[in-house]
Amino acid sequence: MNLSLKERPRLEDRYQVLVIGGGINGVAIARECARAGRRTLLVEEHDFGSGTTSRSTRMIHGGLRYLEHGEIGLVRESLRARKHLLREHPHLVQPMQFLLAISPGSRRSALAVRTGLWLYRRLGGPKLRGSVSEMEKRRLEQWLDAGQRWSILDFEDAQCEFPERLVAEWLVEAIQAGAVVRNHARVLAVNVTHGKALGVLLRDQLTGKEQRVDASWIINATGPWADRVCQRSSIRTSRPMVGGVRGSHIVLPRFAGAPTTALYTEAPDHRPIFVVPWNDQILVGTTEVPDSGDPGKTKPASDEIDYLLHSVKRLFPRAQISRNEIHYAFAGVRPLPFSPNQKPNGITRRNFLHDHAEDGASRMISVIGGKLTTAAELACECAQKIGAPTATRKVLAIASVDSIDPILDRWVLEIAEAGGVSESTARGIVEWHGKRSLDIARMALSSAVLRAPLCSHSEHIVAEAVDAFSNECAATLGDVLLRRVPAALGGCWSDECSRQAAQRIGAAVGWNEQDMAAELESFEAERAAFLQKTVRMDLPVETAAD
Ligand SMILES: Cc1cc2nc3c(=O)[nH]c(=O)nc-3n(C[C@H](O)[C@H](O)[C@H](O)COP(=O)(O)OP(=O)(O)OC[C@H]3O[C@@H](n4cnc5c(N)ncnc54)[C@H](O)[C@@H]3O)c2cc1C
Repeated sequence: MNLSLKERPRLEDRYQVLVIGGGINGVAIARECARAGRRTLLVEEHDFGSGTTSRSTRMIHGGLRYLEHGEIGLVRESLRARKHLLREHPHLVQPMQFLLAISPGSRRSALAVRTGLWLYRRLGGPKLRGSVSEMEKRRLEQWLDAGQRWSILDFEDAQCEFPERLVAEWLVEAIQAGAVVRNHARVLAVNVTHGKALGVLLRDQLTGKEQRVDASWIINATGPWADRVCQRSSIRTSRPMVGGVRGSHIVLPRFAGAPTTALYTEAPDHRPIFVVPWNDQILVGTTEVPDSGDPGKTKPASDEIDYLLHSVKRLFPRAQISRNEIHYAFAGVRPLPFSPNQKPNGITRRNFLHDHAEDGASRMISVIGGKLTTAAELACECAQKIGAPTATRKVLAIASVDSIDPILDRWVLEIAEAGGVSESTARGIVEWHGKRSLDIARMALSSAVLRAPLCSHSEHIVAEAVDAFSNECAATLGDVLLRRVPAALGGCWSDECSRQAAQRIGAAVGWNEQDMAAELESFEAERAAFLQKTVRMDLPVETAAD
């Protein structure tokens, strides 16, 4: 079998809804429109979830910070969305305790912060996990910037460690609802005739073939690329729709004294900063730098890396972390609404739907802004805007983790038995593949090749990769290892892991030597462009950042 077929069937010539951009918003919109019975096509230039969606801090949050800007409505809506995600995807979205550390020099008064937290807790509803222990708070205080008295408070939010997986699950649901989806397919231009958007010219990035596709509605869900799509199609908006703001992260090994729960605090320049346990590593972010360049080429600048590292070193002066220890750094461009006179952190995180009728392209909508957290709600709003009926999502009670954990544990045992795999592999499968776990386990049972780990240290197995090609529209090795089975985001992933994974996956899906070499080469190029190595600078970091 050769599952990563480059030759894909020609698309039909006409759809009711055509969604451009397969980030979390585009996938959610395609799913909603398909569920509403609309013949829907979703096209994505690279891979689903490869844009901003995989470059975020991965929090599913109400946005405590937005309270400072008086955006109570947005906080309430985001907290409601958080509840839905916790309930609907308990294997991917989990409650997380946050410690909020306020330094003695903070510009925020402890009283104002306490009041904000009180309101945030009221809006968020009952806790799903117990509070952080006093011992953990004291431990953290001891490690934090020695000699200062910190006020340490706690609150609850949630984390989706792998939004790439959330996108993959929603994609499958979109397909099940009847959507046609195509990654590695770029919209070259929207065809606008007599004031109406009629369709698009598409290029298959894997074969180079071009095709025109018509649609009754076109949704431009390209996030930070939204203005570019319009410019290439000669659709003139009165002003730019998006004001891109780059955010960078660094990923560190777990260092001595690192928080075991998420830490939200201020960097030395009083900007908010997160230090979050993630994927057995520590994720630190983020920055806010206006960026009008090509979002596909965005990278963390050297001074952003220094800034983040310096902030961690200031917070944890005894931790002895150096630039050499950073596993990698990555950046994404927030597609914030264009707001030229505002500081990036003051710009609303609300989403907007821009109707291009006023720009001479009726029946085309651009999606601006938004968050991972609120993507499903945005999708309903968008579907309603084009007249597609959506079901009302009821907020149902969420089980506490104390009751979910034993269910997951039982499930892990069942999967281990069904697949003939270890418990740790079964846990990895359950956590990433949810409902598909049993199918993957049964596939694994059928052959030792499929039960093999992706590389010598991975718990994830070849069957997961095969499932990604067969059922989740992965088309390249990069689609698999960076998003469907994102083992390559792990701290110990090396060139040798890439080689082993390419060979093992290739053997299972029928690649010849040439295919394998080509897949490996393009995967390594993609990995290097996304997960930046941070070479040591000549100057010590302290000097560079001061
Ligand atoms: C640093 C940072 C931290 C963040 N942290 C959080 C967080 O913790 N929690 C949270 O809820 N949100 C967070 N966000 C926000 C969230 O990540 C984004 O709002 C969300 O991912 C946007 O999704 P999207 O689908 O609109 O855009 P994208 O994910 O960028 O998707 C757009 C897609 O369009 C495709 N595309 C572009 N041009 C074309 C074309 N011509 N043809 C076809 N396809 C095209 C791109 O390849 C891309 O995949 C963060 C964002 C950043 C940058």
